[in-house]
Amino acid sequence: MTLVQRLDQIRQNIPPHVRLIAVTKQVSIDAIKEAYQAGVRDFAESRLQEALPKQAQLQDLRDISWHFIGHLQANKAKKILEHFHWIHSVDNLKIAQRLNRLAAEESIDPNICLQVKILPDPNKYGWQVSELIADLPQLEQCQQLKIQGLMTILPLGLSDKEILAAFQQTKVLETQINNQSTLSLNELSMGMSGDYLLAIQAGATMIRLGTIIFGERNSIVDSK
Ligand SMILES: *Cc1c(COP(=O)(O)O)cnc(C)c1O
Repeated sequence: MTLVQRLDQIRQNIPPHVRLIAVTKQVSIDAIKEAYQAGVRDFAESRLQEALPKQAQLQDLRDISWHFIGHLQANKAKKILEHFHWIHSVDNLKIAQRLNRLAAEESIDPNICLQVKILPDPNKYGWQVSELIADLPQLEQCQQLKIQGLMTILPLGLSDKEILAAFQQTKVLETQINNQSTLSLNELSMGMSGDYLLAIQAGATMIRLGTIIFGERNSIVDSK
């Protein structure tokens, strides 16, 4: 199957309110252009140093929205703010506050998702649920950030039932946060190639798909 055919098939499973984000780490410029030709406008990268040269080569495609989905290192926060429309992987209070300060300095209001470990996972970054609840008052103070939603990545090895339950728990957490804070979350960034159908079932609004669009990557570990 060609990339275009794979995309067509995936799109049949995606309701119109769900944003398909093509994850382009380790993907060639030609393949990215092919996805663009097929109508994809949202692209995600997890490493700044890999993203910058690609963005430079694709700068004529002005209507691309770039999403950052990797772990945010403090010393790269400024560049990431400058080069991405969305940051899905804000995973602790300190980095949120740093982004808030930098965004104020640059007079920009970036779109942010808070990365939450909905299930315990030593191999992932993100807030534990209880920590996130405790940090809400300080996150409310980060007024330069458009805190739009939650992002989650599940641990490996779960059954479909467990995956669905974990995504549903993320939806419940979103509601809880909206009820008990001044934040107004509307986005759920959850679902990857292996579990996006379950994520959509649980209320995902943004799915992040790599392998299923572009094929297998080299297995460089980059979760943590
Ligand atoms: C790599 C990556 C994806 C895409 O994973 P696939 O299984 O290839 O679809 C999604 N989200 C994050 C955070 C990633 O690092």
